[in-house]
Amino acid sequence: MGVADSGVQPRVGHNTLPDAERLWTDILEYVKPRVSREGFETWLTPTRGCALSNGTLEVEVPNSFFADWLSQHYSAEVRAALASVSQQELSVSFRPRDSMDTSMLIRRAPARRPAARQNGYRLQPHLSFENFVVGESNRLAVAAARSVAERPGVNYNPLFIYGGVGLGKTHLAQAIGNLALGTKPSLKVYYTAADDLFLELIQAIEKNTRIEFKNKYRGLDLLLLDDIHYLVGKERLQEEVFYIFNSLHDAGSQIVFTSDRPPQDIPALEGRLASRLGSGLVVDIQAPELETRIAILKQKAAADHAELPDDVAYFIAARVRTSVRALEGSWIRLLALASLDGRAITVALAEEALRNLVKEEEPVDHNRIIKACADHFGVALKDITNGGRTKQLALARQVAMYLLRGTLSLSLKEIGGLFGNKDHTTVMHAIKRVGDLRTSDPVFAAKLEKLSKGISRGEPG
Ligand code: ADP
Ligand code: MG
Repeated sequence: MGVADSGVQPRVGHNTLPDAERLWTDILEYVKPRVSREGFETWLTPTRGCALSNGTLEVEVPNSFFADWLSQHYSAEVRAALASVSQQELSVSFRPRDSMDTSMLIRRAPARRPAARQNGYRLQPHLSFENFVVGESNRLAVAAARSVAERPGVNYNPLFIYGGVGLGKTHLAQAIGNLALGTKPSLKVYYTAADDLFLELIQAIEKNTRIEFKNKYRGLDLLLLDDIHYLVGKERLQEEVFYIFNSLHDAGSQIVFTSDRPPQDIPALEGRLASRLGSGLVVDIQAPELETRIAILKQKAAADHAELPDDVAYFIAARVRTSVRALEGSWIRLLALASLDGRAITVALAEEALRNLVKEEEPVDHNRIIKACADHFGVALKDITNGGRTKQLALARQVAMYLLRGTLSLSLKEIGGLFGNKDHTTVMHAIKRVGDLRTSDPVFAAKLEKLSKGISRGEPG
């Protein structure tokens, strides 16, 4: 099992080969800035170039689980590195250090990640609705995304999905494309991120192919434009996006935008798309609540054919709260650790795996939430909990209740207990009021989001 299996395009040359260890170090240097830090440290740091013969670089890895994982997830980067660092005809093969390794994790076949579609749609089939876990935090966004995928150009056009880093925006955009294409293969679907679009535009200008560039986009039925906040401060790109947007919209084609912030926080976009955004729908994805985080972990584990005990899932989900990507990273780290030492997946092992990862994510406790709300609304802590009755205090208290529920999943009774034994119907009413405000008042929603994120990051309100 090695990169050699997946069709390396070798280069032919006449240089003498550097020794195996140095060659692999060079390759790693090339790969490092191109993959996540987490992934690099977990999977590539424990590897070593050990032999070079017949055009094959043998790389020693801790066990066969690593060998599989590296082949599946890092082949493309290693292949690119090979082409860049060596003139020789070369392939790489990963050799497990202990070929007698029999840890439970390596006996099972790891999940296969299907290859990206070859036809230029830039869709990755594994980013589908089927493996997107739905919870309160993303329910509306998923419903809207499905509806758009089922009837592009009909229901919400454009669809604007926004949310913080690592919360599933790209996954959802891709899922829309996959479902739309799966339902109607003749559709012209195209996914691109705004920064790639920018590169493409620059190249088109350089090579004098603006017309082709425009035509390519004009003919689409469904355009998925990811990370549109990248437009901020890029006048030329903005012009081009508005042009593309207008011609697609006029032709009844569907457009889906994703962004890390709501449209009103992208001034250029807001100004020029305002009227047309009105014909569409703006939905947000919030950080997942505890149950959703647990469900996501369980799903990732199932996809890797690994057993994840409930207490371990809970342990991780309680600590990694702000991004699904971080949640995924923690799971992968745990899996790697288990496979390295052939140990069972337990809370103790999870603790070890998370030790370096979640330094910044100290467990949020209720005091921190209440304090942050008091600070945010400029009221005294003791007045929030003691039942003072000004309007400002009432709102601060309601927001605190809402966040306690959302962040810590406390029961209504537990929350009531923190505010001088308030009745559970009072708590329920408070949570509903804040939820309603969030829906009806975008400014309030944005402030709430900021407050909530600040709490997760340990910032003062
Ligand atoms: P964003 O584009 O918002 O930064 P991504 O879509 O790249 O985030 O998501 C980060 C990672 O988390 C991806 O691997 C994605 O598949 C996964 N992910 C995010 N949300 C979910 C979810 N609800 N269910 C399952 N996986 C998710
Ligand atoms: Mg993304």
